[in-house]
Amino acid sequence: MEAINFTHVIIPFFFSNSKETSLPLIHSIFLSDSTIIHFRDWLGINGPLLIAGPCGAESEAQVIETARGISASGKVALFRAGIWKPRTRPNSFEGVGEEALKWLQRVKREFGLKTTVEVATSKHVELALKYDVDVLWIGARTTVNPFSVQEIADNLRGCDVPVLVKNPVHADVHLWVGAIERVRQAGVQKLIAVHRGFYNPRQTKFRNDPMWELVIELKTQLPQLPVVCDPSHISGNRNLLQSTAQKAIDLGMEGLMIETHFNPEAALSDAAQQITPLQLNTLIDSLIFRHSYSDSKEFRDKLQELRNSIDELDEELILLLKRRDSLIEQIGTYKKEHHITIFQLERWMEILRTRSVSAAEKGFPKDFIEKLCLLLHEESIRRQNEILNS
Ligand code: PEP
Ligand code: MN
Repeated sequence: MEAINFTHVIIPFFFSNSKETSLPLIHSIFLSDSTIIHFRDWLGINGPLLIAGPCGAESEAQVIETARGISASGKVALFRAGIWKPRTRPNSFEGVGEEALKWLQRVKREFGLKTTVEVATSKHVELALKYDVDVLWIGARTTVNPFSVQEIADNLRGCDVPVLVKNPVHADVHLWVGAIERVRQAGVQKLIAVHRGFYNPRQTKFRNDPMWELVIELKTQLPQLPVVCDPSHISGNRNLLQSTAQKAIDLGMEGLMIETHFNPEAALSDAAQQITPLQLNTLIDSLIFRHSYSDSKEFRDKLQELRNSIDELDEELILLLKRRDSLIEQIGTYKKEHHITIFQLERWMEILRTRSVSAAEKGFPKDFIEKLCLLLHEESIRRQNEILNS
């Protein structure tokens, strides 16, 4: 599977939730330094990267039984297990620590699976490397903290260990990019971003809101960086796993990290979202891995023809917007002459209502038209403000 190339995607400013709006949209050391080594080269796999294993390593038997089930399918490249668990409240299961690293050595020896654990401190890095963990991952609660990320990065200097960087808990792509840059600047070239969704104070059906547009923004800033999705922490429950995983693949993400436990109901953390190795196998088989490119000339010609039509329509849209802008200019001037305020609540409500009704009649999504109206109205206010104050 090849990833969609997002290099030329332009992200509207309203997709960015970062307060640091002064940062240019395309901003990264990677654009001048394309030295990310893709996982296909260091893991030697061609297809998507599949990572599976329990949320936390709980006992030797649990780790070994889960790894046995996972390795049976031959589809999974990396075995994950939390050794030190960042829990919201104290006195819940916080991982077994160093002892579990020996169980992961058994997993490597007995099943030939490479291993990955979460590291949040320099001590974690030191121990993980001491016990030959193959890949380290930085969790969502660590990515939010530049001090912690820097501490980890400093400890990785001179090591050749690959690192996965999960997105920060809250929806700030700059923080995610910054964490990746810190690790990259420490000399780590084998890097992967992991999308695990974002905290959203509003209740959604997800445990962590996927906010897919933020992954597209990350890909725009770091085109060379592979991204895999963690649908387990996005979903928070087994029922949403399949659809979330499929959506991630359809957006060009290059792999999945899925929490898997030989007895999910008995898991000491994240029980609701874990699945058995058998269920994992079924889930993987149910996914459709599409390509971002086709060798068929017929397909490419037809696609080009359709894209040409879109180009023409977009040109027409720009001309229409220009005509709209001239009308706004006339309205602004007229209001100025008559000392009338720019914002007229009734008119705005009427625009929203009539455009939504018209969109619904034509079978067009109401949400989209409302967002478009908001954008047009925002620009109209800005233009009239300019005129009234000139
Ligand atoms: C995990 O993968 O078990 C974990 C703690 O994830 P996150 O950092 O995404 O919450
Ligand atoms: Mn978990």
